[in-house]
Amino acid sequence: MGVAVGIDLGTTYSAISILGESGRAEILANREGERITPSVVYFQDDGSVLVGTLAKRSAAVAPLDVVGFVKRQMGNPDWRFDAANGRQFSPEEISALILKRLKEDAELTLGQGAVTDAVITVPAYFDDAKRRATKDAGRIAGLNVLRVLNEPTAAALAYGAESRRDGTILVFDLGGGTFDVTLLTVMNDVYDVKATDGLHELGGKDWDDRLIEWINLQFRHEGGPDLTATFESEADLREKAEAAKRTLSQASSTKVILSGGGVTRSITVSREQFEDLTGDLLNQARDLMISLVEETGLGWAGIDHVLLVGGSTRMPMVARMIEEISGRPALRVGNPDELVALGAGIQAAMEAPAAGTSRPRVIVQDVTSQGLGVAVLAHDGSGRLVNSIVVPRNTKIPAKGSGVFATSADGQTELLVQVTQGDDEDLAFVREIGDQLLTIPPYPKGAPIRVEFAYDIDQMVSIALYDLTADSLLGSFEVDNTANLSDEDIRTAMDNNNDTEVA
Ligand code: AMP
Repeated sequence: MGVAVGIDLGTTYSAISILGESGRAEILANREGERITPSVVYFQDDGSVLVGTLAKRSAAVAPLDVVGFVKRQMGNPDWRFDAANGRQFSPEEISALILKRLKEDAELTLGQGAVTDAVITVPAYFDDAKRRATKDAGRIAGLNVLRVLNEPTAAALAYGAESRRDGTILVFDLGGGTFDVTLLTVMNDVYDVKATDGLHELGGKDWDDRLIEWINLQFRHEGGPDLTATFESEADLREKAEAAKRTLSQASSTKVILSGGGVTRSITVSREQFEDLTGDLLNQARDLMISLVEETGLGWAGIDHVLLVGGSTRMPMVARMIEEISGRPALRVGNPDELVALGAGIQAAMEAPAAGTSRPRVIVQDVTSQGLGVAVLAHDGSGRLVNSIVVPRNTKIPAKGSGVFATSADGQTELLVQVTQGDDEDLAFVREIGDQLLTIPPYPKGAPIRVEFAYDIDQMVSIALYDLTADSLLGSFEVDNTANLSDEDIRTAMDNNNDTEVA
């Protein structure tokens, strides 16, 4: 039997862990000895790829061949990376190269044969397409994906394993590219998620972008050229801005040395300036956290701890804001970059315990992060289509739900079912995750049709439709997500992944 690991496939960094013989989850260092690996891929001219720190460092010298932040593109069918060697790569294929590197490094570190199985974490707020894309990336990398686990839930598992304390926890997870906030209770090894919400486009990268813009402006005021004008100078500026941001988590000010067009300048940034530039970003996270706490009706008095997860929670402004709002200091357990991977390692051992070890005794009850519904005609007779939610968000998974809808015309023989994911009534603000054209017998208008939805444990969706007049099944389908790769695409990608040397 192969080895099962937990993987945090992050926007900016990834990490891999395993439940050790001691019964504690442990991070597996990569071949460079680092505990986290930058989620950056460098496509080299000879067809081989570099992943990690060396790839990240190459961004300034080969910006067109280096790709990062690909997690933000998961589930986006229109996004491809054009490598200089003429090949195009989907977000799944690029993620699979990162996974391959993590897998090979883990095999090297463990020296126990092949890593075959993995639990991979995703932001709680990921929709069906993004979850499927993540699972597909695992498959392409030759991994059997045991489970797609929510990142805040994974972090809570790691916290619970370390602290051995029961209580109600709010997990505040601000990573490189995404933000999630989750409320859960831990009681006698049962992790019961109550509610979750998130912004999948808010993370450390946005803080970097603000600083890049500001530093560039200062440089231009002092006679320098626009550093965002070329890919090379922009990549260099990005690296320096991120380093400055990290320094500002420790120091009250820092200097950035920039050169371009024969001009060299030292730009000073203070923490206060940085916080002014980015305060509105933090406010977005704050507002979502407050509304989640209100939604659950618990109030701050009902929450025992606010747990900080994700590298971006190292910014002092985060803990300060949480203390102001919640009235208590935020909690750090271990390394905020590693907590999610550690929790995934615990879950992996639950799914597939290693030979001779016992299965951890924990129970995880998670919830759906987004509502699931269908497009129906509005009741106002306007002929407008609106979103009708069948399974509301924050329903325990695996979840089932059903709704009865009526046909809209006499003798209609076709029924178009459009499945949505999202919580808004307005279809413009939800995602259509699949549709199916069904044939029905010609009934008078108003014939009842029942739609049944199921969310599996990975929060992937399947649908069944019943004709209630004839009491028969009209059809059932998994969401054939147009945003995802086809089976054939995946097979081709697997072959390519297999053939690609990753260093
Ligand atoms: P994660 O995806 O959880 O590893 O978070 C990565 C993000 O955390 C990146 O945007 C990093 O720039 C950011 N980060 C890491 N360390 C620090 C730090 N010391 N101060 C501020 N941001 C940090």
